[in-house]
Amino acid sequence: MKVPAIDLGECVDCDACLELCPTVFVRNDVCYIEVIELPGYPEEEVEDAIKNCLADCIIWEKL
Ligand code: SF4
Repeated sequence: MKVPAIDLGECVDCDACLELCPTVFVRNDVCYIEVIELPGYPEEEVEDAIKNCLADCIIWEKL
C-alpha cells in the first residue's frame, strides 16, 4: 500500500496540504503536519498536495 509521508525538517507550514487534502493531512497538537492513519489514501488528492507543497517534502512511501 502507498502511504503519504512528510519530511518535517523541510516543511515550511504553507498549509497547501491541509487545504487540498484535508482528509489525509492535519495539524497536530504540537503544530506539526501529520498524516492521518487511513485504510487507503485518495491518490489524486495526495498528488495534488505533493505538487503544490512549497517545500517538496511530501512523498509516497510503500508499505
Ligand atoms: S504542503 Fe508541504 S510545506 Fe506546506 S504545510 Fe504541507 S507538508 Fe508543509
